[in-house]
Amino acid sequence: MGADNGEADADVIVIGAGPGGICTAIQLRQAGIDDVLVLERSSGVGGTWFNNRYPGLACDVSTDLYSFSFFLDHEWVRPFATRAEIVEYMEAAVDRFGVRDTIRLDTHVVSARWDDDAGRWNLVDAGGGRWTARVLVGAVGMFNEFVPPAIPGLDTFAGPVTHTAEWPDDELGFLVGRRVSVIGTAASATQVVPAIAPHAGHLSVFQRTSNWVFPKEHGLYTEQQRRDRREDRSVIEAGRAKAARELDDLFADLDNEAKTAEQSAVALGNLEAVRDPAIREALRPTARLGAQRPLLSSEFYDAFNRADVTLVTSPIVEVTPTAVRTADGVDHPTDHIVLATGYLAHKFLSVVDVAGRDGVALRDKWADGAYAYLGMTVEDFPNLFMLYGPNTNGGSIIDKLETQTRYIVGKTTYLLKNDVHALEVRPEIVTGYNAQLQADIGAVRAWQVEGSRYYRAPSGRVVTQCPYTVVEYDRMTRVDDLDAYAVTFAEPS
Ligand SMILES: Cc1cc2nc3c(=O)[nH]c(=O)nc-3n(C[C@H](O)[C@H](O)[C@H](O)COP(=O)(O)OP(=O)(O)OC[C@H]3O[C@@H](n4cnc5c(N)ncnc54)[C@H](O)[C@@H]3O)c2cc1C
Repeated sequence: MGADNGEADADVIVIGAGPGGICTAIQLRQAGIDDVLVLERSSGVGGTWFNNRYPGLACDVSTDLYSFSFFLDHEWVRPFATRAEIVEYMEAAVDRFGVRDTIRLDTHVVSARWDDDAGRWNLVDAGGGRWTARVLVGAVGMFNEFVPPAIPGLDTFAGPVTHTAEWPDDELGFLVGRRVSVIGTAASATQVVPAIAPHAGHLSVFQRTSNWVFPKEHGLYTEQQRRDRREDRSVIEAGRAKAARELDDLFADLDNEAKTAEQSAVALGNLEAVRDPAIREALRPTARLGAQRPLLSSEFYDAFNRADVTLVTSPIVEVTPTAVRTADGVDHPTDHIVLATGYLAHKFLSVVDVAGRDGVALRDKWADGAYAYLGMTVEDFPNLFMLYGPNTNGGSIIDKLETQTRYIVGKTTYLLKNDVHALEVRPEIVTGYNAQLQADIGAVRAWQVEGSRYYRAPSGRVVTQCPYTVVEYDRMTRVDDLDAYAVTFAEPS
């Protein structure tokens, strides 16, 4: 590694220190690859869980499963961890597995260019720092970009407008006694609404599409449970296996009518918490189960039993300096707008200006929607891999990240040990993989109907979802596929 005063050369550079980037650094080190740098734009590690700070943010996957398979003995205090507890876990992983020295915080990578003569990636960060690497791993996650919704007049609003992704550190004080409008009723809204309702003077919640909301176990482990988990590892293993089965079941076989009827009944039972029949009807999900991301909360519906919470279903037409105006002509007086409107989930690594062979831009290549081979690598971009890339969403994300890390570490080890100049997936392999993938996606009826918009690129292609179970996907990445790549070796010097 060269001198590291904001610039350095490394064998491998990873962009992003979320769960994926941390896992990659650990697995690379364990494979004996020491010359690794992780560049992270934020001032801490943990990715999603470090960057998002809205009240109520917690994991909807049991922590037994939302843990690295190689770090299961962390002492979790509850079955579904809060954001702060996951950051603590990621911090602990960084120290336990000795990768803190690889991480450079406050380093926002703005561009990455492939130099075919040198066989290296050249990176530039927002401060003008320059970095080079033989192998580049994009671990920027799927949910790092958002834009305010295109609501006429939003920019004329006199009070503060806060996107959930920009929330100042779990803060609640500034909402006390205020009239707050929450726009959106999907994933972040199901968490933020019950968390802020007791503090706001009045809460208006604007719903465009109702969602499937399943009950979620909450509360802390008892002392006895914590002791059992500490003393008997099989308790955690069993919890992990159960959570994996349940999650796979939720995402797999979406067209099985009997199964979805059974699952729907569970979510509709949760909805029964709403006492007012008209509000209950308005919150009743209408999209086919599976068309949207299933949500988990045992507190969201109950929030609508409060006299100071109003559900608004008339579409928003504009925002005035003092109110949110809906199509029925009603002005909803507002002091503070909260945007729970989600992320641009279709951009993946193209949030960075990446240029591959002959200067081809990743953004241009993906103009019709992102795609990749196994969700990890694209033709014309040698020695480049992605985690949580196109069509890898679904099931246990930590398991997926581990699967991808294993694959990428395998290819990186081959590349470095054999003095490979460029390892580049063959175009026909990428085309063939994606033709099959899109056919498999096309066969999932639940994804063809009007539902969650975030699955699709603006072109309409489903780019986020993986039609394969975690186990199937893992199997696909374990075949010896070196012949899927064109390999050129470094000239002897
Ligand atoms: C609000 C929210 C709630 C979620 N809840 C759940 C849940 O309950 N269960 C679940 O399974 N998943 C959940 N997810 C998905 C979650 O993102 C993944 O589970 C997991 O965090 C993915 O890890 P990652 O490392 O791939 O990406 P991330 O965690 O997104 O980490 C990516 C990192 O890359 C950094 N980065 C991005 N661009 C650059 C750049 N140009 N230069 C340098 N660094 C950069 C980011 O700052 C970030 O630290 C949630 C996501 C969000 C946004």
